[in-house]
Amino acid sequence: AAKEKGRNLLHFFDPELDAHRRQRREQLTEITRALENEEFELHFQPQVRIADRQVTGFEALIRWNHPEKGLLYPDSFLPTLENSHLEVPLGQWVLKEAIYQMNLWHEAGENLSVSINISARHLMDRSFTRYLESYLHSHPRVKPDRITLEVLESTALEDTCRARNVLARCRKLGLHIALDDFGTGFSSLTYLRTLPVDLVKIDKSFVINMLNNVSDRAIVESVIFLGQRFAHPILAEGVETMAHASALRDLGCEYIQGYGVARPMQAHKIEGWLQEWRRHTARKQSRERPAS
Ligand code: C2E
Ligand code: MG
Ligand code: MG
Ligand code: MG
Repeated sequence: AAKEKGRNLLHFFDPELDAHRRQRREQLTEITRALENEEFELHFQPQVRIADRQVTGFEALIRWNHPEKGLLYPDSFLPTLENSHLEVPLGQWVLKEAIYQMNLWHEAGENLSVSINISARHLMDRSFTRYLESYLHSHPRVKPDRITLEVLESTALEDTCRARNVLARCRKLGLHIALDDFGTGFSSLTYLRTLPVDLVKIDKSFVINMLNNVSDRAIVESVIFLGQRFAHPILAEGVETMAHASALRDLGCEYIQGYGVARPMQAHKIEGWLQEWRRHTARKQSRERPAS
């Protein structure tokens, strides 16, 4: 009995678990402060149609400008946030900021499309569409059909009936829906069948090695085939080289995103990058189609 008691005590005061909990609590406090101090920012990465090299949109990706640690990437703070009371507030900040930025671009004469990552828990929040509508209402020049919501397969979407309703409502407002990181979850096929989807994004983990790994290539091919069967356009992420891009084009993939096109960049760099890209594309196309 004494031994059992000892084990229970050990379990109760597991120092590692305790340190982990404390760390998490501290980071959450820091995130609250960071939200107040506006330390988060969105970077944007271009998405391109392979056939004509047209830029079709930009994915908004969150970064944390930490006063001491420098620029932090989502992998270092999103896991802490998950299932915490801050997941929805941060998600709302992202949504609001992305729409605000779209409005700035619109004022500068660029009517750009933006993809926004939405966590499942945020999507399932009772007030999700109400907030979305209010942000759109305060920026009437931002057209909802310029916005794509990227949703991940997640256990939180297991209530597929509700997920379907929320997504259908967003679509009715004019927004598009993308299935992000397709193929990495357990329910990919179920979601493909049950959720209203406009675009399927093949996860970068399959794309990055598709040129030298037969299994990865087989998965990429299958996802493209599936997408075509469901009449969904396909975007491949993690396209690091032009060799990837042409292999993907040959397989029937329409859109790409990755370091091979551009890395995610700060909002103020987008206009200059776009001009450079368009100049480059025009030059290339006039070389490919010489005047007769
Ligand atoms: P994701 O939505 O699948 O975004 C693509 C990730 O791949 C981004 O990482 C991007 O920087 C990276 N990437 C793009 N091209 C390449 C490439 O050619 N090679 C490689 N190796 N990587 C590439 P990032 O920005 O670190 O974001 C990681 C994940 O964090 C995102 O994956 C997304 O799930 C999540 N995330 C980012 N921003 C937000 C946000 O605002 N809200 C939510 N809920 N999640 C976000
Ligand atoms: Mg995404
Ligand atoms: Mg993705
Ligand atoms: Mg991902």
